[in-house]
Amino acid sequence: MNILVTGGAGYIGSHTCIALLEAGHSVIIADNLCNSKSETVMKIMDIADKEVTFCEIDVTDAEAVDIIFRNYKVDGVIHFAGLKAVGESVDKPLDYYYNNIVSTLVLAKACQEYGVNRFVFSSSATVYGDDKVPFVETMDLLPTTNPYGETKAMSERILTDITNANPDFSVSLLRYFNPVGAHWSGLIGETPNGIPNNLMPYVTQVAKGKLKSLRVFGNDYLTVDGTGVRDYIHVVDLANGHVAALENLTEGVHIYNLGTGKGTSVLELVKAFEEANDIEVPYEIVDRRPGDIASCYADASKAKRELGWEANLDIISMCRDAWRFEKNYTDFVESK
Ligand code: NAD
Ligand code: UDP
Repeated sequence: MNILVTGGAGYIGSHTCIALLEAGHSVIIADNLCNSKSETVMKIMDIADKEVTFCEIDVTDAEAVDIIFRNYKVDGVIHFAGLKAVGESVDKPLDYYYNNIVSTLVLAKACQEYGVNRFVFSSSATVYGDDKVPFVETMDLLPTTNPYGETKAMSERILTDITNANPDFSVSLLRYFNPVGAHWSGLIGETPNGIPNNLMPYVTQVAKGKLKSLRVFGNDYLTVDGTGVRDYIHVVDLANGHVAALENLTEGVHIYNLGTGKGTSVLELVKAFEEANDIEVPYEIVDRRPGDIASCYADASKAKRELGWEANLDIISMCRDAWRFEKNYTDFVESK
């Protein structure tokens, strides 16, 4: 199939392009490079040893999207393009609602106009709010506390309504848990701007000496060791989940958790990182981070049952591959 991958130069998108190419699909990347670099497209081609088509466009631009659908035979869309920083979304709600909602509307409309019936959407475990773990796809969408989460819940609702009104349309809503790690080549991975908000990139930058020590946000949660528990999933497993979702797509709306089903605490992740890479990660315990929940992990059984997909790579592989990429990566971030 010819797949239009929006946000294909980004972290999860780039790994998914490789998985698609390895599975025999062709890829058209649409990315405005607002949070990525064009070199990543070259690296995708190097790793997969295949060509991809790259269109540097903003997918909120209906005319630019129309040109792609007019000029290329698109069989399906995987829509990654979006702004994703929770904190920033509170400060810049208009940017987040505009970018993340308008892009979904523009792409869904182009799909309708050109008779493209396969649509895979990047959603997030954040739509579950703070309900009981493990999170199951049948749980209601809870009102989220930040504009980023709202854009994911709203996009899910929009795509569901469109699908209900168009019986030929098929949509897969993929709720990611915590993607970490990098391609084994060490060529592509996560490159957050400035000081990372997320745990794994923070840990790799502490290990590299870019940052002095990890601040562990709270050790008084009701968890195995008091620190927050998350379901970390290797980005390569996540990428393969997209191929499985795309290839198994049937009419209607399908919702899948893409996680491992296993929770790991902050201190367990630090220990795994130290073991995997034989490197020390200094840390200090500080106050809880506002808005954090104690535990978040998936019931990942539906994706296994219906898509035949499950995550295979363990936390040691995630830590090893994240570190390999960080060691290779040259951008410098000032230590704080
Ligand atoms: P990323 O920022 O690395 O990739 C997003 C890509 O989209 C970037 O290359 C960016 O340049 C591009 N982009 C953004 N707006 C665009 C627009 N209007 N037009 C064209 N390109 C645009 O992020 P990621 O981590 O790869 O996340 C991909 C998707 O998965 C996002 O929708 C994100 O919300 C979602 N998601 C990510 C996580 C996570 O922890 N990384 C978790 C759950 C969901
Ligand atoms: N965390 C931490 N220090 C950091 C970043 C994160 O202790 O510098 C903790 C955070 O409190 C949470 C876990 O690590 O329990 C995962 O946080 P992340 O921001 O990576 O993911 P999210 O909370 O969005 O699921």
